[in-house]
Amino acid sequence: MSGKIKTQIEFLVALQDLDIMIKEIEEVKELGFEVNGEGSAALISAREELVQKIKKPMLAAYERLRNRYKRAIVPVKDDNCLGCFMKLPTSITAHGRTDKEVLVCENCGRILYWLS
Ligand SMILES: [Zn+2]
Repeated sequence: MSGKIKTQIEFLVALQDLDIMIKEIEEVKELGFEVNGEGSAALISAREELVQKIKKPMLAAYERLRNRYKRAIVPVKDDNCLGCFMKLPTSITAHGRTDKEVLVCENCGRILYWLS
């Protein structure tokens, strides 16, 4: 990997991936299956490291959304939000591609990211 500086949105996407994995392990445990405790601990420690890199207001927005949706962050495809499938206005799609700011879907409120 190069020394490329990751954007906030990349951190958030990585955080969401970790949260989904952690949740899956919890669900498996709830079903009464044995889970390798080290695997789960590694995920949680990776999450703690990642959280340090994300700005507080961004993290708060993510946590709020996560209570509502399984996926708080969704990709955009053909200018559609893949969370609610609404067509996004050009005011959002034109800015989103620059990757400099974090944008949310006006319809469902999910955080959007563009697959490059
Ligand atoms: Zn949406």
